[in-house]
Amino acid sequence: MRYFFSALLLSITFSKGSAQNYWQQEVNYKITVRLNDTEHSLMAYEEFEYINNSPDKLDRIYVHLWPNAYRNGKTALGRQQYEGGETELTFGEEKNKGSIDSLDFKVNDQKVKWEYDPQNIDIAILYLNTPLGPGERMKVSTPFYVKIPSGSISRLGHIDQSYQITQWYPKPAVYDKNGWNAMPYLNQGEFYSEYGSFDVTITLPRNYVVGATGDLQTQEEIEFLDGKADETLKKRSEYLMQKQGRFGKTPFPESDTEFKTIRYTQSKVHDFAWFADKRYAVSKGEVTLPHSKKKVTTWAMWVPHNTTYWQHADEYLKDGTYYYSLWNGDYPYNQVTAVDGTISAGGGMEYPNVTVIGNASSKEDLEVVIVHEVGHNWFYGILGSNERVHGWMDEGLNTLNEMRYVQTKYPDNTRMSDMVLGGRFHLNDLDHHDLGDISYRMLAILGEDQPIETHSADFTSANYGVIMYQKTGLVFYYLKDYLGEELFDQCMRAYFDEWKFKHPQPEDLEATVERVSGKNLDWLFKDLIQTTDHADYKLCSVKEKEEGIQVKVRNNGQVNGPIEVNLLSKGEVVATKWAEPSDRSTTLQFDKGIQFDEARIDHTKDIPEIWRSNNSWHKKGLFGKIEPLKMEFLIGDNEQERTNLFWTPVIAGNYYDKFMVGAAIHNNGIPFNKFQYLIAPMYSFGRKSVSGIAELSYTILPRRILKTSRFGISVKSFKYDNNVEFDRDGSFVAIAPYWKANIGNRRSKSPFSSELLVQGIKNFDITPYYSESNYMGGFIKYSGDLNFTDHQLNFALRYDKSYNDYINMDRLSFESIYRVKYLRNKMTRWFEIRGYFGKILDLSNPKYQPIYSYAPYTLSLSGSAGYQDIYYENYYFDRNAAHGIWTQQRENNMGGFKTASFYGTFVTNWVASTNVYMELPIPKIKFIGVYADYGLFKSGIQSEVQSALNTGIGLRVGKFFGIYFPLWMSSDLKDSYGDAGYGEKITFTLKLNPLNGPIKLSNLF
Ligand SMILES: [Zn+2]
Repeated sequence: MRYFFSALLLSITFSKGSAQNYWQQEVNYKITVRLNDTEHSLMAYEEFEYINNSPDKLDRIYVHLWPNAYRNGKTALGRQQYEGGETELTFGEEKNKGSIDSLDFKVNDQKVKWEYDPQNIDIAILYLNTPLGPGERMKVSTPFYVKIPSGSISRLGHIDQSYQITQWYPKPAVYDKNGWNAMPYLNQGEFYSEYGSFDVTITLPRNYVVGATGDLQTQEEIEFLDGKADETLKKRSEYLMQKQGRFGKTPFPESDTEFKTIRYTQSKVHDFAWFADKRYAVSKGEVTLPHSKKKVTTWAMWVPHNTTYWQHADEYLKDGTYYYSLWNGDYPYNQVTAVDGTISAGGGMEYPNVTVIGNASSKEDLEVVIVHEVGHNWFYGILGSNERVHGWMDEGLNTLNEMRYVQTKYPDNTRMSDMVLGGRFHLNDLDHHDLGDISYRMLAILGEDQPIETHSADFTSANYGVIMYQKTGLVFYYLKDYLGEELFDQCMRAYFDEWKFKHPQPEDLEATVERVSGKNLDWLFKDLIQTTDHADYKLCSVKEKEEGIQVKVRNNGQVNGPIEVNLLSKGEVVATKWAEPSDRSTTLQFDKGIQFDEARIDHTKDIPEIWRSNNSWHKKGLFGKIEPLKMEFLIGDNEQERTNLFWTPVIAGNYYDKFMVGAAIHNNGIPFNKFQYLIAPMYSFGRKSVSGIAELSYTILPRRILKTSRFGISVKSFKYDNNVEFDRDGSFVAIAPYWKANIGNRRSKSPFSSELLVQGIKNFDITPYYSESNYMGGFIKYSGDLNFTDHQLNFALRYDKSYNDYINMDRLSFESIYRVKYLRNKMTRWFEIRGYFGKILDLSNPKYQPIYSYAPYTLSLSGSAGYQDIYYENYYFDRNAAHGIWTQQRENNMGGFKTASFYGTFVTNWVASTNVYMELPIPKIKFIGVYADYGLFKSGIQSEVQSALNTGIGLRVGKFFGIYFPLWMSSDLKDSYGDAGYGEKITFTLKLNPLNGPIKLSNLF
């Protein structure tokens, strides 16, 4: 029988659901609870009626005990938070943690056997004395005691005497056609609950203001709140004088010694939450619903020092309730409340009728958060989808409505541009919708996007926010554009009518929308929701013929969606047509005689297309498709209608070029382009000519196996020698074509990532002195990273080759670094161990050559010096230094010894080494560590194996800079320094190569 399977093994079936044989369970609660605001606890008694409407006989029920999620670091919540770097449950003080106990479950007044789920202490399993048959009901009761955790952890909690009482009572898991949906509480991954009614009685000190689910039944409390609302109106100007700021500035008054008991009831909801604070200011309003004209009361409750923003909360509550009702169906309850609170689970959090809102940074921000959370009354409250598994059905559809709300109420908004330097930066008129659009496209272009249909717990945090919320909003915005608002609204209202107060699955939403629209929407429900396939449409040609204006568009992408084509005249749309979904090109015919000067795909940028630069055609201009030039300082957004170019002055310097000054010109705007370039020519005062770099690349986003595939070529030219003694004056040009592939599957969150890099090199010495310095070659490097919160492993296997008329070099190397966090509590410190083996397979005839001609191809016990950087992977201030401090610059590669002596250099056979580095446990100072290097090498074919040991103290600033002071070294190594002073034994690393570095997600989010 199905219900014997553990509910945690959710079977997700995609059988087409239909409302006819649909059933759901019903749970009706009666809870009495008393708040103790000195010990921050709840004492309560609960009784619920459980009605089994399923066709199955139930021999047990699963009950969530979610306050237990806050018990310690071993709960699912504790583990999820630890992974995200929040350690309060793992290492925090006991007083900040929470729990539920004093449970004594009875079914129909008979004691029952119950136990905690073996994996999750926040789930209980009640074994029924007699199974509950189809159509039968039972009464379950228990007392319970909740220790309220700190509000800084997640959604249930208190900050001082401000209480957020959510996910707080024993609550049966949903039993549906997929079986039991028992789930531990998580921060990332929301809820799924049974519908029913609540009758909740709360006892607490008289001077608390309470915002809660349900209709308040206590007349005295209604008068108390009305009085608070009047008082708030009178005190508004006084409140506005208070300094804005973080929660807690308005002091808490003493608690009344007298208690009050207040009662709330509500039916057709699936949760009950309440919030209590003695400081709250209150405002009461009313909104008339668009369809039924029914009136709904709005309540806003906030801490007086937040009055500047909150004084308009009434308006946001009304407008949010109005528009969501208009587009989706009327709000079915009597009141809607927003309360001000500090919750750590994000900007705001929804509960039926009541939402809690975190600190807002602006009036606009507060409006969006309130509207979003109020909107969850529809997409969560009324349409009770399984948010843990199909989070997009509530967050995504809600984001669609949120985007639509902002675009409707503020059609000229520049919300995204305003976020950077208050709008003064040249992000050109980017609106609220663009924020989602650009976030999605950036994530996708980095190859890091997961499918919308992903289990909440399997999302990376960037994907949870960008894909589940924003991309879903975008794809339904696209659908709205395609169907037109009227038909789209009909679809959403039909979904609302058919599925309100029920548990719709994705296939139910799809069935309703397809039926009402009469369209096949596989491109949306399959391609855009279930895969990471990207949309990319291209405007191919525009021809004015006898029959009419013919615009040819082509589907270049992986999604066969509909394509909007607009004809514009002086920037205004004069005609629009849609090409129906197709995997090839379509020619649309517009009426003859339309006056237009431009044709565009999706001029309002409502289609979540990955590349937009191929979307337009201009009548004027030589090339039709070439856009007018836009040149901006530093960086900005890539405007679809422009050829975007950014510039910035550059100054640089090295030992030979001396001072360099020039400009970098590039097209790496936001979001990135498929084709990227950067040119940075600089006048070199040392070379008395131009030095600099240039790089071109082209990115492809394959469907499978590779996340990204980038082809590019990089060119560098600098001066590298000025040996006065021999009258040499060398400059080089290095041309390095490359292919970089980020290997992996975008579908899943994996701690492992790997990359393949194939790079060639052609190095010219453009001065006549060193023909030996001209060489060709390249390398293949496969590298992998395994990343966990407390430990990391990376490795790289690499084969290098280079040759010229004199020398051929082949070598192979393997490097691996394991890092572990050896202190994990309040102070975190890392220990690192590295292993390296490098072997020269062939270095033909070096002995007949002067040393400087083969030295670049040799191995070292230390990291490579500038002259060994034959592929120009790093910047060296003086790459050929023979004397002075710049001879002490090394890379963190090869043998990795922090030494600069000649001992163990020019190795033409093999080097093996291990290096350890430990950050010292000095409080507050993280950058001091100790190191030890041990290595063996065989310098030539005939030579003996030699060894060395080196220890010292290091200072490291991230991966960019390190400086190493030796303390003790083995005798051969020590002797090799001769009479050099201590200063010459110090080495340093300098990583100044941001351009060649991979673009990592962590740098952007
Ligand atoms: Zn939300």
